[in-house]
Amino acid sequence: MAILRCLNACSITNIEVQLNTVFENDMENQYSHVFNSMPIDEYFENEFGPLPYRSIKFEHRFDETFDYSVPTVNFTDTDKYTRKTAWPLYPGCGGIVGKHVTYEIPCSYEENNMERYYPIKTIDGWPQRRYKQYEELAKSKDNMTFIGRCGQYIYYDMHQVVANSLSIAKNMFSLLANKWSPSWSK
Ligand SMILES: Cc1cc2nc3c(=O)[nH]c(=O)nc-3n(C[C@H](O)[C@H](O)[C@H](O)COP(=O)(O)OP(=O)(O)OC[C@H]3O[C@@H](n4cnc5c(N)ncnc54)[C@H](O)[C@@H]3O)c2cc1C
Repeated sequence: MAILRCLNACSITNIEVQLNTVFENDMENQYSHVFNSMPIDEYFENEFGPLPYRSIKFEHRFDETFDYSVPTVNFTDTDKYTRKTAWPLYPGCGGIVGKHVTYEIPCSYEENNMERYYPIKTIDGWPQRRYKQYEELAKSKDNMTFIGRCGQYIYYDMHQVVANSLSIAKNMFSLLANKWSPSWSK
């Protein structure tokens, strides 16, 4: 997580970026507001149980016939692979077709080094109900907003997560502008 330390909210030049910094709960006191992209269940120490995620293991093959003109093939059978991709067929990737094919194997995140990829939806909707419990709990934290795929427990593509986070930030800044001083919002 990159911690953006807003030293002076009036000027964007005073934003400091810290990479490779694990979020510790006692850091909260150092900031007027925290936009937190970590898994919301992890933040609340799994108070209502963990939220499930689907993950993917990638199996790379370096010498395999690839008889398709499309770069990605989705499998609809019940075999362990869900799709395969020949990277050289994507523009700009370079390489030789067949020399780099990646197969994807779906699994739970616990089976893949806790890599949370896709929030899970079930017919009865229990994961979303569990998330709602965390969302309610998060309302008690005035100084924190959970953002992103793991903070809001929703699958976002890149453009969606950027748009959503910009919209959250915009709302927050206009609230703070009214609270602190009308001068810096202009
Ligand atoms: C396999 C896969 C393929 C995808 N392909 C596409 C695609 O083709 N096109 C597309 O638009 N989108 C794609 N996406 C989606 C895209 O990756 C997400 O939309 C985007 O990464 C979500 O951003 P985020 O900030 O919500 O979460 P993340 O990118 O997961 O960022 C969350 C950050 O929080 C950090 N963090 C978590 N816990 C802690 C902690 N305790 N302390 C400190 N830091 C912490 C993590 O290290 C991470 O850097 C794909 C996603 C996956 C999983």
